[in-house]
Amino acid sequence: MKRRITRKPLTAERRAVSPISALCSEEGCGRHAYSAGLCQTHHRQSMTTGKLTPIRPYHRRKGKTVRFSGIRMAEEAAAYLADLAERQGVSQSAALAEVAEAWVRRGYKLDD
Ligand SMILES: [Zn+2]
Repeated sequence: MKRRITRKPLTAERRAVSPISALCSEEGCGRHAYSAGLCQTHHRQSMTTGKLTPIRPYHRRKGKTVRFSGIRMAEEAAAYLADLAERQGVSQSAALAEVAEAWVRRGYKLDD
């Protein structure tokens, strides 16, 4: 018989009554321990990849963004790409790839 294993997330309410208030054992993490001495994100990493990596900070975007081809971006960028895809008769992701490739070919960099 198969057993379904469900992992309930530790809600704020359950965390408040939990006798364990330890922090994640991964160096430099600082989040609340969720299971096996790890926070939820590091626990998931250990279960899926077996490798623990630092959790990248959430990058809050400035201004209004929309979702285009699975990527959140500025409205005007999405409008340009949608127009390009329409004019060229290609998919949204193909238009996005074309713009990124043209950008790289021209040697543009953001980290200068
Ligand atoms: Zn952690």
